[in-house]
Amino acid sequence: MRHYDLHCHSTRSDGLLSPAAVVRRAAERGVDVLALTDHDEVAGLAEAREAAREAGIEFVNGSELSVTWNGETIHIVALGIDPANDALNAGLAAVRSGRDTRAKRIGDALEVAGIPDAFDGASAFVTSPRLISRTHFARFLIETGYVRDMKEAFKRYLTSGKPGYVPHAWATLAEVVGWIQGAGGQAVIAHPGRYKLTGTQLRALISEFTDLGGDALEVISPSHTAAQFGEFATLARSHGLQASCGTDFHGVGESRLDFGELPPLPAGLDPVWSRW
Ligand code: AMP
Ligand code: MN
Ligand code: MN
Ligand code: MN
Repeated sequence: MRHYDLHCHSTRSDGLLSPAAVVRRAAERGVDVLALTDHDEVAGLAEAREAAREAGIEFVNGSELSVTWNGETIHIVALGIDPANDALNAGLAAVRSGRDTRAKRIGDALEVAGIPDAFDGASAFVTSPRLISRTHFARFLIETGYVRDMKEAFKRYLTSGKPGYVPHAWATLAEVVGWIQGAGGQAVIAHPGRYKLTGTQLRALISEFTDLGGDALEVISPSHTAAQFGEFATLARSHGLQASCGTDFHGVGESRLDFGELPPLPAGLDPVWSRW
C-alpha cells in the first residue's frame, strides 16, 4: 500500500521548512506520494518537485485556496494543477493581494487590544514576501509571551470575535473550483471538521461544492476525530465525492501529525488518486 499525503505547507506560505526540506522529511518518514499545498501559492512547487525526484518519491502539484462561503473561511485544496496556468495564477495573485492590508489591520487591532508592534513582529516571521498569514502573528504572540502555543494564540486573539480578528473576503467557492479545474486539477474541501458550521450548513456547503463539480472531501486530517473520519466518509459517499487525506504539516512542534503518521482512508471510498 502506497502512503499518500496530499496536504502540507512550506516556507512559501506558513510552514517552517523549505519546499525541498518538506519533501525530504516526507520521504524519510515513508510518504510515497506527496502534494505540497501552500496557501494561495504555487511558487514552491518547482523546488519541491526536484527534491522529490532526488528522493525517489512521487510529487503532486498542489495549493490550498482561501474561500469565503456564507461569511465563513473555507479552504479548498487543489491537486494536480498546472502551476503555469494563467487564470489560476491571476486568481491566486488576487487572493494573496488582500493579505497585506489585512495584516496591517490585524496589527492595528492587536494594538488596540494592548499588544504593540504586532505587524512588525509578525513580519519578522514571514518567509515569503508574497504571503503573510495569521500563523505569523501567532508565532509573534508566542515569542513575546502573550500566549503559550499556537492553539492559544488562535483561541485568544486570532479567530472570529477575538481582539486580533479582522474579517476578510477571500475568493468565492465557484471561482476557486473554476480556477483549479481550469488548470487541470481536482478540487478538495480541506479539513471539513474544522469549520464553525452546523451540520445543516456543512451539508449545504458540500452540496453546493458537488453541484459546482467539486471532486473530493478531505476525510482524513489531524483536525478530525476518529468519529469524524466515519462521518466524512459517509458524506463523501452520499455526495459521490472522492476522498483525500493529508497531515496539513506546518513544521515540527506545530502539527498534530508528522509525515508518515496518517491513518489509512476508511474502506469503501473512491480515493482522489484513483485515476492518477
Ligand atoms: P490565514 O490564511 O492567514 O487566515 O491563516 C490561516 C492559518 O492559520 C491556517 O492555515 C493554519 O495554519 C493556522 N490556523 C488557523 N486556525 C488555527 C488554530 N486553531 N490552531 C492553529 N493554527 C491555526
Ligand atoms: Mn496554514
Ligand atoms: Mn487549512
Ligand atoms: Mn493547510
